[in-house]
Amino acid sequence: MTNPLLEPAFNTLPIFEHIKPEHVEPAIEHILSKNKNIINELLENQKTYTWDNLVMPLEIIGAELDDVWCTVSHLNSVVNNAELHHAYQTTLAHLTEYHTAIRQNKKLYQAFLDIAENPNYSKLNIAQKKVIENGLRNFKLSGINLSEEKRETFKALSVRLSELESRFEQNVLEATDAWSLNVTDVNQLKGLPTAVLEEAALNAKDKGKTGWLLTLEHPCYIAVMTYAEDRKLRKKFYTAYATRASTVEPFANPTKWDNAPVMHEIMKERAHVSTLLGFNNYAEYALQTRMLKKTTDVTNFLEDLILRLKKVAVDNLDELKTFALKNCQLDALEVWDIAYVSEKMLQDKYAISEELLKQYFPEERAIQGLFTIVNKLYGIHVKEVESFDKWHSDVRLFGIYDENNMLCGHFYTDLHARPNKRGGAWISNCKSRMQYPDGQRQLPVAYLVANFSPNRAGESVLLTHDEVITLFHEFGHCLHHLITTVDYPSISGGNSVSWDAIELPSQLLEYWCWEEEALCLFSEHVQTKEPLTHDLFLKLKASKNFQIGLRTMRQLEYALFDFVLHETFSAEPSDKMDIQEILDRVRTKTAVMPTPKFNRFQNTFSHIFGGGYAAGYYSYLWSEVLAADVFNQFKEDHQVFNKEVAKKFVETILSKGGSQEFMDLFIAFRGRAPKIDALLKEYNLL
Ligand SMILES: [Zn+2]
Repeated sequence: MTNPLLEPAFNTLPIFEHIKPEHVEPAIEHILSKNKNIINELLENQKTYTWDNLVMPLEIIGAELDDVWCTVSHLNSVVNNAELHHAYQTTLAHLTEYHTAIRQNKKLYQAFLDIAENPNYSKLNIAQKKVIENGLRNFKLSGINLSEEKRETFKALSVRLSELESRFEQNVLEATDAWSLNVTDVNQLKGLPTAVLEEAALNAKDKGKTGWLLTLEHPCYIAVMTYAEDRKLRKKFYTAYATRASTVEPFANPTKWDNAPVMHEIMKERAHVSTLLGFNNYAEYALQTRMLKKTTDVTNFLEDLILRLKKVAVDNLDELKTFALKNCQLDALEVWDIAYVSEKMLQDKYAISEELLKQYFPEERAIQGLFTIVNKLYGIHVKEVESFDKWHSDVRLFGIYDENNMLCGHFYTDLHARPNKRGGAWISNCKSRMQYPDGQRQLPVAYLVANFSPNRAGESVLLTHDEVITLFHEFGHCLHHLITTVDYPSISGGNSVSWDAIELPSQLLEYWCWEEEALCLFSEHVQTKEPLTHDLFLKLKASKNFQIGLRTMRQLEYALFDFVLHETFSAEPSDKMDIQEILDRVRTKTAVMPTPKFNRFQNTFSHIFGGGYAAGYYSYLWSEVLAADVFNQFKEDHQVFNKEVAKKFVETILSKGGSQEFMDLFIAFRGRAPKIDALLKEYNLL
């Protein structure tokens, strides 16, 4: 049987048009069983284990599996259907089992230890040593040194945790879907954008109702909170949204979706996992793979930023209250007024119309402008590939070439929203850079996906400034993956880069969306063909820091709550372990306005309870520090297109992937550890 997932030859791209859901399981099963045999042979047939006879072959078979799996999970995200999703889920379970078995393979662990303890270890290069160090670390974090009995406990806890985390997310989804509001009097909906009203009318019709059906789905909720003139409607929505997945009213069937017990158990089991592995708490355990190493590094950073921003946040709120009284006749500003009044104040202060701004960012012009900017910075060229195999007619493929016209890698773009495609924007790997022992090199390939407005025949898609930023952000991740010079796939590109530093290349590139010199290169009015006017630029720039205190303080509250929570919980029950109480304590530091007693925001905080960002929410802010500090190096030389700084950034950070500790890479670029000052300057605090 031929299977298109297994077919692509060396350095060729996936044959998307021929891949069907029924190919997924057999392809992955085939590779898993082949890999298991290879691992056994590698372990059995050598007297002395070395980089060449063990580690590199493992890198290769790992990458070959990843390449096929990346194709499957990519398709699952962009052309989803029930059969594919089923095949994806079933295969994912087998993959998890395979990876757990490898990480708990004692013989393999011993082989890695032998290599690390052999005198020849010192002859390996830095990147090779990092692959081995990462391997040893991952074995330990998977409980390799535990007794048989404790290893079984560890496995059971891991399974239980993934059940609980998905229960948490499911409760959020179901509770969100369960609430809606049928409005029949159009006066109640004053202020809402036409598109939201149209969607709500369709919604009502679908359910056999008259009028408009409003839901708690994010776009609808945000629109109500930002634009609805009816204060009672905003209050109703705020209350419903803030009490999802809790036993607080207005949910009719409260206990069914209550996340409070789920959260408590998640925290207890995470604490259990970390103590089993010898750590004091889950926060300590999570930092093992991060750029910041000590729990105090994180809490000091967050608390310092809170102190510096508190006054700005208070001032922001005072300004808002004054505006609310004067312009909206609201003498007591409530939490459900904040987004609404803020939007009014934003328009009043800067008079920035999104619609007007959009005229300057036709999509194709923004894309070509982005390529011009990275060319000016890094000397790289981007060329479109005309003929290739795609999963949808919208897809494009580009090659990236260095200054000497050498091909570095490829990336696909899939930029427009359509049914059966996951929302949001992201990049993911298709292939990672790797050199085979015979000298042949596989070049990296990435997917850049977004959900901009769909193409309409004959019309150019116009991007909002936010969408332009998204494009630059994701392309920053793409560059990290594609211009790497690391030849070991587990640490090339963004692979194995610390979670709290991975956003540096992407957040850095966003800065060029706020510089006039750069904007002139790619903004072009769709009719007049003129670049963005100086006047509009000034307004745009001035709006960047709008309510920076309030916005950042909210992020700081989430980050500190997440971290303190994971530091406080232990496997043994104690009265310190009350999630609400911990949140209330954090709020005494961060809040500038009281939160209503009924608010159960934490019950839907999927970032940390659904997995992913556990003890890691601070990463968003820490990456901002890194990006601001790097960008400041360009600014210090008064040239946003300083080629020397750009070259140094590529050589010390962007090309190095996960081949060294991120702190070392950063110091190599900046000559010192990161400083918060540049970010404070961005916030106008210095
Ligand atoms: Zn990102």
